[in-house]
Amino acid sequence: FAGISKKAGEEQLISFEDIGGQDIAKGELQEALEFIKDIERLKNLGIRPLKGILLNGPPGTGKTLLAKAAACFTGSAFLAASGSEFVELYVGVGAQRVRQLFKQARDIARRNNKKSAVIFIDEIEVLGGKRGQNSGHMEYDQTLNELLVQMDGMSENDDIRVLVIGATNRSDMLDPALLRPGRFDRQVKVDLPDKKGRVKILELHTRNKPLAEDVLLEEVANDTFGFSGAHLESVANEAAILAFRENAGEITAQHLRSAVEKVIMGEKLDRIPGG
Ligand code: ATP
Repeated sequence: FAGISKKAGEEQLISFEDIGGQDIAKGELQEALEFIKDIERLKNLGIRPLKGILLNGPPGTGKTLLAKAAACFTGSAFLAASGSEFVELYVGVGAQRVRQLFKQARDIARRNNKKSAVIFIDEIEVLGGKRGQNSGHMEYDQTLNELLVQMDGMSENDDIRVLVIGATNRSDMLDPALLRPGRFDRQVKVDLPDKKGRVKILELHTRNKPLAEDVLLEEVANDTFGFSGAHLESVANEAAILAFRENAGEITAQHLRSAVEKVIMGEKLDRIPGG
């Protein structure tokens, strides 16, 4: 399946412990996933199975990691795609890709002896944007309709249960049909990390790096207000590169300060229009 990003396929395992901060998001997600783990009890009580969870938050905050951890937590196969991969020039291709995605997820699960699969769709607003808003572009409508058909068609009697986890930072753009009960009826907010979360994320991304005695991750967290997890991962990596360039055996507090500056500068440059 050509449309699926490199993220697809059999993935390295990620657990909720590998994700820093995001305690509320993790808690809500885990609570929702408990339902999936115990399908028999669910069936007996006549509870409608959970088909979709929407992760809503800014870029780089760990939505992909959360989806991978969800797959791991439920013992599911994992398959990732991005909404933009479904947008094609030719009518019907996007819908066909959606069908293939669901089929491939079930195939991967069967091959790996799993009873369930998690399909992660990043930038779902591209695929599931409000219908009619794309100036009558039939392609988007057909693709979204196919996603709804696939989700509606899932039943607790399927041999492989599929959970769709969508991610967006523009939930206002989503077609209300997607948010109807039985589709993405759980929404989990994924925010930028607070100071405690930043310390945790920095700890995770420096755990295999030699840190000098003068390093206080609390201080780094103080200097990185507004940083996402992805920014903090960059800080840890940039600091290690600086140490390498100086032939230093350890990462010092100064390396980390310079790395923070570098990431801030990088962001500013990115934001200059046309720059
Ligand atoms: P996007 O919306 O841009 O796809 P995302 O929210 O899915 O972003 P991820 O792809 O999960 O973000 O995160 C990118 C990288 O940033 C991760 O591979 C990881 O290195 C780091 N990261 C982000 N958030 C966290 C976190 N909470 N804990 C640890 N690492 C994180």
